[in-house]
Amino acid sequence: MSASGIRFVPDYPALAILVGILAGVVPALAASPMSPDPGPETNPLGSPTAPTLLYLNRCAGNCIVHGGPDSAVNNASSLISGTRTLLGFSYGDESWNALVKCARRVYAPYLIAVTDTDPGNVPHREVMIGGTPGNLGLSSGILGIAPWACGTPLLNTIAFVFSAAHGDNIPELCWTATHESGHLIGLDHEFHQPDSMSYDALTTQFKHFTNFDSECFDQNTGQQTPCYCGVASTQNTDLRLATDLGRDRVFSDGMGEDPWELPPPSPSAPLVNRSPLSCGTRTDRATSLPLAW
Ligand SMILES: [Zn+2]
Repeated sequence: MSASGIRFVPDYPALAILVGILAGVVPALAASPMSPDPGPETNPLGSPTAPTLLYLNRCAGNCIVHGGPDSAVNNASSLISGTRTLLGFSYGDESWNALVKCARRVYAPYLIAVTDTDPGNVPHREVMIGGTPGNLGLSSGILGIAPWACGTPLLNTIAFVFSAAHGDNIPELCWTATHESGHLIGLDHEFHQPDSMSYDALTTQFKHFTNFDSECFDQNTGQQTPCYCGVASTQNTDLRLATDLGRDRVFSDGMGEDPWELPPPSPSAPLVNRSPLSCGTRTDRATSLPLAW
């Protein structure tokens, strides 16, 4: 999670920039081509028709990623240039399974399938998990990065979680994985500490999506800013996901502030300093244009 960026500009288009780069890097406002008729999938407040498949890609061995227009099916990302190799997730099966279990629990109240089996040619949202930001040519200090388009749900796109930058720390890895995938679904950064989209450190609970109207913040400055580049004064991640993805009837009331306690601290699970600028989100390329499929 990190990034800098020009968050809102008068008459800013849906493809406005939120550049996720480390401190000291001046964010660039790059005009992106606009679709004259973006269709329901680019509604800043979401779309009930968005596909609901989330693939957690354990980079066992390595993951090869190509720079270019976003495509989870083609392992392509607008966030990188050239062809890059994200090194493998190195913490073993037990940690991986715990991470998948955690992400499934966080998304359990919503109608979204979280899988770690490659969906192949089926369009999906994907989180590649492994390696370091340097593997992708990104600056150290970024824990995860996702394309983001001021709240527009992005389809068939890849976000990244850099596991080697976290250590073998499931609460932290789960937080970043749900945070970055949240960006793909259109969620903004917010202040409410228990929420996955907050930057505030873990306390006693796993992060999750909360039924709470929170103000949003600029990830570069940490200062309050309107959500979705000025579209809304607050964000409620639980209601947003329930609206966009659908509510799983088993969790008809959501998880609320479910007291889902963290495991005891461990030397192998160090705290991760993720503020400021530990998440990168950027939309300075045509990532949110309607895709062909
Ligand atoms: Zn973020």
